[in-house]
Amino acid sequence: MKRESWLGAGLALFACVIQQPACAVTPTRDFEVAGAPVGHAKPDAAIAKALATISATEIEHTIRSLVAFHTRNTLSSIEKDLPPGQGINAAADWIEAEFKRYSAECGGCLEVKRDTYTAEPQNRIPKPTPITNVYAILRGSSPAQAKRMYLVTGHYDSRNSDTLDARGEAPGANDDASGVAVSLACARALSRLKPAATLVFVAVAGEEQNLNGSRHLAQLAKSQGWQLEGVLDNDIVGGNTTPGDELQDKSVVRVFSEGIPAIATAEQARRADSLGYSSDSPSRELARAVADVGATYGGGFRPVLEFRRDRFLRGGDHSSFNEEGFAAVRFTEWREDYNHQHQNPRTENGVEYGDLLKFVDFGYVAQVARINAAALAVLASAPPPPKHPRLITTTLDNNTTLEWDADASQPGAQYEVLWRELTAPQWQRFVAVTGTRVVVPVSKDNVIFSVRSVDASGHRSLMVVPEPQLPQR
Ligand SMILES: [Zn+2]
Repeated sequence: MKRESWLGAGLALFACVIQQPACAVTPTRDFEVAGAPVGHAKPDAAIAKALATISATEIEHTIRSLVAFHTRNTLSSIEKDLPPGQGINAAADWIEAEFKRYSAECGGCLEVKRDTYTAEPQNRIPKPTPITNVYAILRGSSPAQAKRMYLVTGHYDSRNSDTLDARGEAPGANDDASGVAVSLACARALSRLKPAATLVFVAVAGEEQNLNGSRHLAQLAKSQGWQLEGVLDNDIVGGNTTPGDELQDKSVVRVFSEGIPAIATAEQARRADSLGYSSDSPSRELARAVADVGATYGGGFRPVLEFRRDRFLRGGDHSSFNEEGFAAVRFTEWREDYNHQHQNPRTENGVEYGDLLKFVDFGYVAQVARINAAALAVLASAPPPPKHPRLITTTLDNNTTLEWDADASQPGAQYEVLWRELTAPQWQRFVAVTGTRVVVPVSKDNVIFSVRSVDASGHRSLMVVPEPQLPQR
């Protein structure tokens, strides 16, 4: 080493010593030298404008209206003598009317659907019971991309302490009128846009009856061949406000995602583990994309990645979609209050129980709705995810060669190859690529790679991890 280099190294070491503990060590390892740090995309002005229309007032209107039905227990659909304006059938009518109102505002841009089927007796459903899912479809504006779909859902059924109580008060303000409010707010805000891919805005019933409504919808999607690329399920996103609880965090929302897909065979699970891909299911890449979009459009409000299918002892509608092989994640507030879920409204020993309107923070729900709407808008506006990315493993090599198929519907498409250390939760660095092949001077042994499609407006597709394989040419 030359004398100047020794001097430079000595000065750097001195600076390092006096700056402890925040000492910046010059990166030298391949994965931290190559490429550039992954930053968040610049916002698309049209999307930002649509998000700004989502208001706490509109959220409150939805939740207050749903709570007013006294109960939305799924089993109330067969109660013949409920007082007028009570029960789940009245709630379904109201949701359908809301979708139709939004559609009228955008010149009929939404197709409003009501899907009623009869659930035969089973656990939590003692008699044959009609169950109704209500949803609205915003067809993609691009003929080439309209088959691609993203879906947002919440469940409009509610329950109290007894999930079989079809008549007692069950306000379900947080669980899950809040999630329905997100779905409806997304429908209204995004009906102002014309994304290339199709969006579906859903309110399902039967969640408290073992995810019955969402299972029906997920099976329908599978049987009809819906090209569903991502499902956002919002359940308990009310930002529960309990006097005296100082541990609620209103600046974040949790996003739960499965690691190994629910439908993976034992062999596929073993292979994912062997490749280091046990945290790279399509659902997890969807969660990462939500976090990425949140950094651009969240305004400081932040999705927190929870690398777990769901919370302990609980389930949700995203699992119905996972079970049919679709990527799906669940949004839930940071900290739940179990006195305000699945409880008969009452006061006992000075403690107030019940899922009441007054514990919901409408401004918080609006923030969650904006993150959902941003994710839907960006993913549906982005070019399709890269097709069949491959990691070429012909020889032992400290560089990495990646290839993917050209997309005839996207001539001149732009891509990004991203990577992260094996222990890192999020993508760290990337290179931009034009074409469908790249050699990155980073050893594939020490990082996970993925590929995504991007456009000039800052729309980024879902990331796809490459399959290791021999070259095809
Ligand atoms: Zn719920």
